[in-house]
Amino acid sequence: MSYSYTISLNCPHCDTKCQFIAIEEGHTRCGSDKKKHHIPYTCTNCQGLVVTKWISNDCTPKTFRDTPAGYNQRLDIYYPIVGDWKPRVNLQLITNEKVRADFKEAIDCYNNGFYNACMLMARRSIQQEMINKNATGENLYKQIESTGISEKLKALLHKVKNFGNNGAHPDFFLFDKEGNEITDKHGFARLSLEFLDKYFTDEYEIDSLIESAPKSQKELQEIKSK
Ligand SMILES: [Zn+2]
Repeated sequence: MSYSYTISLNCPHCDTKCQFIAIEEGHTRCGSDKKKHHIPYTCTNCQGLVVTKWISNDCTPKTFRDTPAGYNQRLDIYYPIVGDWKPRVNLQLITNEKVRADFKEAIDCYNNGFYNACMLMARRSIQQEMINKNATGENLYKQIESTGISEKLKALLHKVKNFGNNGAHPDFFLFDKEGNEITDKHGFARLSLEFLDKYFTDEYEIDSLIESAPKSQKELQEIKSK
């Protein structure tokens, strides 16, 4: 497909083949993505956003658009721009780089609409966290139980583990209280992130808040005597 201000694509948001309109102001040539041209488009049916990536001979965004067939422009790939989920926890407080990277990847998966992958990465993030805490046991359940974290946080992590199992295994189902199967992958993935966010907030942010709070004379003496 060569470049055009309007193009026809299968919309990943509304699952319909429909017309998309370029948002020309957003057109950039990405220096670190093989100099591909990145152009956002919006769906005329649902207004959902996608980003398109184009391969072409060397040219600026303006000449790219002004001469739609002059630089061998062709559509490489397009992705939906869907998510805007942000953690409340300051990611920098998660000091273990591997744990942080896994949590971040889970967030990226969610924000790109890959819900099973999000749940897998959230599960991976807790397993990484348990390894970091020197947990023992042959499976994640036992590893979580072997740590000194509170019972409430353990319960929270077991839920994230369940969502991860649902993301990984086609035969692992989740139910409501009445025993009806729930199949809301989007909701599961969101809960995975929110539970994990809550865990990291409790486990890391509270320590940091206490650490930086003003101290009493007694507390100062305790710090000095350590
Ligand atoms: Zn659409």
